Amino acid sequence: MTTTEVIHRPERTCVGCRQRADRDQLLRLVREPAPDGSADRIRPDLSGSAPGRGAWLHPDAACLDLALRRGGFARAFRGSVDTETLREQLEASVPTITWNR
Ligand SMILES: [Zn+2]
Repeated sequence: MTTTEVIHRPERTCVGCRQRADRDQLLRLVREPAPDGSADRIRPDLSGSAPGRGAWLHPDAACLDLALRRGGFARAFRGSVDTETLREQLEASVPTITWNR
């Protein structure tokens, strides 16, 4: 991670396709401790301002699949995370996108 990002045009890297994009084109995801103490879960951060480390994803089923297959979330969050409910959460939070293909 570099500290010299251009301030007026912040870019982030999609955890799926690894392409850089303006942050307003990406969906922010944050980790959230599971209530039962198991591996942290991931939830969409629609406000884009939740505290903590975030991961960025194109709102696209292809990028979600890539991230899940390549372990992009574990890399982004530097640890194992439970991605089992992520697709359902995305479907509930961002219903305008077809997350399943
Ligand atoms: Zn992508």
